[in-house]
Amino acid sequence: MSVLMHLCRGCRHRATSHDGGDRGYSSCRCCLGPGDIDPEPVLVETFRCPGGQPEALYRPGTLWNAGTTHRLELCSCTRCHQRYAELTAAQGSRSGASSGASSAGLSAVSRSR
Ligand SMILES: [Zn+2]
Ligand SMILES: [Zn+2]
Ligand SMILES: [Zn+2]
Repeated sequence: MSVLMHLCRGCRHRATSHDGGDRGYSSCRCCLGPGDIDPEPVLVETFRCPGGQPEALYRPGTLWNAGTTHRLELCSCTRCHQRYAELTAAQGSRSGASSGASSAGLSAVSRSR
């Protein structure tokens, strides 16, 4: 799933590395402190394996990979909710576009392989 997350401007690691849970798993010295967390969330896109289509964006504040050791509580700050609203609105209008857009996407994929 695609998610929004905050990165540290000092070391570019995830904000979650700086605030408890993950701390200690990293050898990064910056992550031992509070870091310099960018208030603007970064979109981390994931793609379905066959097809290469972008996966749906996870809603801020929900649990990601619930029930696994990789679970991660997504940030639910105002900026994340704003970005989520912007991105989901854009995706909605894109899916209504004609089939010409999707065939252009397919040729781009075949060229890259
Ligand atoms: Zn770090
Ligand atoms: Zn840092
Ligand atoms: Zn946030």
